[in-house]
Amino acid sequence: MNNSKNVLRYMFGKGSISNLKSILDTKIEGDSYVVYFIDEYFKDNKILENLPISNEDEVFFIQTKEEPKTKDINHLRDCLLSKNKTNPKAIVSLGGGCTLDTGKAIANLLKNPGNAEDYQGWDLVKNQAIYKIGIPTISGTGAEASRTCVMTNPKNGLKLGMNSDFTIYDQLILDPDLTKSVPRDQYFYTGMDTYLHCIESLNGSYHNAIGDAFSRQAINLCREVFLSKDMMSDENREKLMVASYLGGCAIANSYVGLVHPFSAGLSVVFGTHHCIGNCIAMTAMDKFYPNELDEFWLMAKKQSVSIPRGIASNVTEDVYKQLYASTIIHEKPLRNALGHEFKQILTYEKVKEIFKLM
Ligand code: NAD
Ligand code: ZN
Repeated sequence: MNNSKNVLRYMFGKGSISNLKSILDTKIEGDSYVVYFIDEYFKDNKILENLPISNEDEVFFIQTKEEPKTKDINHLRDCLLSKNKTNPKAIVSLGGGCTLDTGKAIANLLKNPGNAEDYQGWDLVKNQAIYKIGIPTISGTGAEASRTCVMTNPKNGLKLGMNSDFTIYDQLILDPDLTKSVPRDQYFYTGMDTYLHCIESLNGSYHNAIGDAFSRQAINLCREVFLSKDMMSDENREKLMVASYLGGCAIANSYVGLVHPFSAGLSVVFGTHHCIGNCIAMTAMDKFYPNELDEFWLMAKKQSVSIPRGIASNVTEDVYKQLYASTIIHEKPLRNALGHEFKQILTYEKVKEIFKLM
């Protein structure tokens, strides 16, 4: 049975980023400097003026063209090692899922020997991480709330995070002003990650009472946001930030279902990003989540967001084989969705048919 942990503290509200300094001032453990990981979108952005960055702090701008790889995480850790900056009083991550996950992974690695790939799995982290603060700038993945940090190891094709209680943020600053500048399509794709996590979890066999309550509320908020006229109004950006947090809590103690494994297949074979990959995978789910798919299309239409089609409609047999292998490997969520005999339902031909439908 799960002994669940959530984020210890969170501060919510417009302009709440201005409290970062007073939070950091209360920290006395570790050396006096802070290590920042900031989405490179914010390089030269005036939001940086709100951060109490001092000369002794270290700032890394994180690229998001490619999602985090284990070697990127090891490289950042090595940079800190070479500068003798391995014991900061805090790590602060400002950005989307890529940046939030990077901060989590580094906080673990600075207190645990070895490399990022050594901790891909469940409960492999042994020592308490560096104290860390997460400040999301886009809503949907729930990375701010979850106990994992997703990374890919291209050497063995493994896309898996450090699932651990130590990975959970100690403090969140949830400031909906920060999501104003997100491009509309990206806002929809990432926001839909919450909706999809929650419908997959609710439809699975491992769902549980507390996870269900988080999921239902997160779905209701997604409906309010994406079925309204303007998903990016001030009020809706607030709601989606809450939905993302609740969705992260929901998924922390249950499993996803069919959408995420198919999306992971797209990610491994074509390099498709997580959130847009989920939306593409969802378009082929009419046999599995028919009502939710109708609602998904309604939301996309209402917000005039288009979902790319035909990504795998006509690829070689070899590519279908790779897609099949990188989908079917996700046994836990597939079992959650279809039961222990999932491979009898998801035969190679069936999986190929689903990819052709996207
Ligand atoms: P992201 O970090 O991939 O960023 C998406 C895009 O939005 C980038 O171009 C980024 O620069 C831009 N962006 C972010 N904030 C912005 C802002 N305020 N204004 C303008 N542009 C902005 O975002 P994501 O979709 O949140 O994260 C995807 C990543 O999260 C993937 O690596 C995925 O594996 C991971 N993920 C993690 C968890 C978890 O529990 N840890 C769960 C789901 C997904
Ligand atoms: Zn997801």
